[in-house]
Amino acid sequence: MKTTGIVVIGAGPAGIAAALAAAEVGTSVTVIDEHPAVGGQLRWRIAPLRGLDEALDGLPACRAAETLHERLAASGVSVLAGAVAWGLFEDGSLAVAAPDGGFRLQAEKIVVATGSVDLVLPFAGWTLPGVLTARAAQIMLHLHRVLPGRRVAVIGEGLDAAELASDLEMAGAEVVLRAADPAQVVASGEGRVERVSANGERREADAVVIALGRQPDPELALQAQVEFGYSVRLGCHLPLRSELLETSRPGLYVAGEAAGAVDLAESFAEGRLAGLAAAGATPERIATAQEALARARSPERSAEVDRMRPGSLGEARPETGTGAPWTSWAEAAAGGGQDDTLARVALCRCEQVTVGEVRQAIEEGALTINDIKRRTRAGMGLCQGIFCTRAMALLLHASRGIPLSEIAPMTERPPTRPIPLASLVEIEE
Ligand SMILES: Cc1cc2nc3c(=O)[nH]c(=O)nc-3n(C[C@H](O)[C@H](O)[C@H](O)COP(=O)(O)OP(=O)(O)OC[C@H]3O[C@@H](n4cnc5c(N)ncnc54)[C@H](O)[C@@H]3O)c2cc1C
Repeated sequence: MKTTGIVVIGAGPAGIAAALAAAEVGTSVTVIDEHPAVGGQLRWRIAPLRGLDEALDGLPACRAAETLHERLAASGVSVLAGAVAWGLFEDGSLAVAAPDGGFRLQAEKIVVATGSVDLVLPFAGWTLPGVLTARAAQIMLHLHRVLPGRRVAVIGEGLDAAELASDLEMAGAEVVLRAADPAQVVASGEGRVERVSANGERREADAVVIALGRQPDPELALQAQVEFGYSVRLGCHLPLRSELLETSRPGLYVAGEAAGAVDLAESFAEGRLAGLAAAGATPERIATAQEALARARSPERSAEVDRMRPGSLGEARPETGTGAPWTSWAEAAAGGGQDDTLARVALCRCEQVTVGEVRQAIEEGALTINDIKRRTRAGMGLCQGIFCTRAMALLLHASRGIPLSEIAPMTERPPTRPIPLASLVEIEE
């Protein structure tokens, strides 16, 4: 097994900031990212950056990613691109599938900066070719220079949806429909999207983009069985962390959107603090990074992180509802109603398990996400539940009245991503 100093998983803004900060202190640092280039979400965004640091100010996000890459290269950090960290085991070792083979790594400290995934809630026709998430659409537009469609419907509201709609129009697509609530959307067509309707409007369309927002991806930290707590703001569970962003597992830090950071500035500031703390920087340096992080956070976010410390009870339970935008989806999915279209829709597209089948499992007694998974196979497929566990939690909540805070995330097991079988053999060698 290889041994090393600090390993940072994820080379987005948080991971890069962590790696640069740890390298500044003189520690040996390796950054691992599954993508072939560093920058995380910055790589496929063109909006100008504001307020990070002077050299990055005003640069389109994708150019800022290149500048950050240059900083990494100059800092002596070793960057392992195109490599997936797919398992974090009880002994603290990390399993990696790299382009030239698989290996196991024992690090002194680990910073998980794995970012977020796009939130998806099923609607009629969402598995048709031509339906994609905001991130996929941004990648097509800005990395591959391909229009996802000429007539596009955008599902969701908020800043990401607005940025996406504007980027699509700038690239020459027509945004034919905007709808906030996925439960109201029906996409249809012969073998691919040809039409979309929502709220009484019906349009010809060749693409539908789901832009409901992002949800944290702390899967590796959850595999390591860290304590977690519920975030009312996000409607999901997050790793609990100390003031230095260390989890209940000593030496394991989580930073950036993986831990619920709200935006780029907070992700960057969290990364820097986690990197310095992991590298054992001086109290002065750490205090300066903590002050910068406090400035990057709103008072509400600061209060949220203060409530979510290891050993605490986590955030207070939500009294009612599920968090505004998805309440109606949860009710529609649980309730049936006269036109029960959602019952026939795949909730887990990997295993082709419908909303109706999950509803039935709940009616027959399933009370947890793990239980639904065992009874239906929902969440067992290629995406390992990334895209369906939120829908399962909402359905459980709406059908049984269980507070979302009490619906624990699915038990995370390696591998986090599909990996070549050879990687399994190689890690034992
Ligand atoms: C459409 C859109 C609009 C946005 N608009 C704004 C805005 O206006 N203002 C703003 O402040 N922010 C905005 N953001 C958000 C901002 O980009 C993020 O806050 C920031 O990128 C989060 O940084 P991060 O490092 O935590 O995560 P990411 O940037 O997501 O980086 C995580 C990295 O981890 C890698 N990774 C994940 N899992 C593994 C694994 N198992 N093994 C190896 N690598 C892994 C991923 O490949 C990725 O490169 C926007 C994002 C999007 C998508």
